[in-house]
Amino acid sequence: MPIEKRPANPIPKGTQPPLSKGHRVKDGENWNSVAKGASIDVWDLIEFNFNTRDPAEVNWYLRNNVGCVLHTADGKNYRFSSAAAPGIIYLPAIPKPVGPKPTPVSPKPDPAKDEEIQTLSTEIGDFLNVEKSLSWIDFYVGNTGRIHITGTGLRWIGDRIKDRTILVSVDDEELAQHGFYAMYKGQNRIDEATGTTIGGELVVGSSATHEGHFSGTWQTKYAIIHEAVHALLDARGLKVLSIRNECAAYIASVIYLRFAGIKVGSGWSDEFVQAAEIIEKFELYSKLGVHLSSQDIRPLAKAVKQFYGHSWASRDWDCDGLG
Ligand SMILES: [Zn+2]
Repeated sequence: MPIEKRPANPIPKGTQPPLSKGHRVKDGENWNSVAKGASIDVWDLIEFNFNTRDPAEVNWYLRNNVGCVLHTADGKNYRFSSAAAPGIIYLPAIPKPVGPKPTPVSPKPDPAKDEEIQTLSTEIGDFLNVEKSLSWIDFYVGNTGRIHITGTGLRWIGDRIKDRTILVSVDDEELAQHGFYAMYKGQNRIDEATGTTIGGELVVGSSATHEGHFSGTWQTKYAIIHEAVHALLDARGLKVLSIRNECAAYIASVIYLRFAGIKVGSGWSDEFVQAAEIIEKFELYSKLGVHLSSQDIRPLAKAVKQFYGHSWASRDWDCDGLG
């Protein structure tokens, strides 16, 4: 008989995890084959379903919630079959490319600067729309499948910068205070009074402009892709750990650097080096939809923690202007 242990607080039968889709198990399938088909680590998939990695608890769920009736050859575990009833497990669903559609905020009247900012916003938005390397940005971070960064999503952010849902500002002083090259300041998703969605703010340095236009250096392009990742997760209204948000931003923007021919190597801060190593290891420059588990990003997370501080890293992303 399979060894079973009843979990302390079992997930009720029929509970579907958020952002998931049901999968009917069949004869010949097993956790490995299903996980492989869904491009997810097998234990990540098990944890996604049962919130545990304890084999005895997994067996309990397989019999009680999935309705498995057959044993594996060694008799130690339950196995999938068409006879299982209801026989449903859950796979992480690919989240929609974008969150709720924000209502554009009316630009603040600022006569002297307004035209320049409008031009800068349009040109930054255009950059995100034409930048070819974004087509290769398509990966997941973390075990739940919620953090999905795509070029399509980043281009959508470009459009929100163009229509000024996300406002652009140039502020060297504010950046210097934080020691950042650029930053994204999220805002509350919903304005309680009006019920409308409010966008965020992208702060860039004066090096991003040249004679009234977007300077378009690789440094500023890098920074905009990095901040656009934060904006994308903000726009989806996702509450995610700061560390995962930051890792996602590094990975996406270092993919850009790779295509731009900028070699990340000695002399670079460790977050860049670790992001570059993940990109090579998982071939993120040529594979789409790769799931990076928390374990996969661990060296990068460690480097980011060292850079930003440990207490910050374990907090939820508070949309409060962290670079
Ligand atoms: Zn960041």
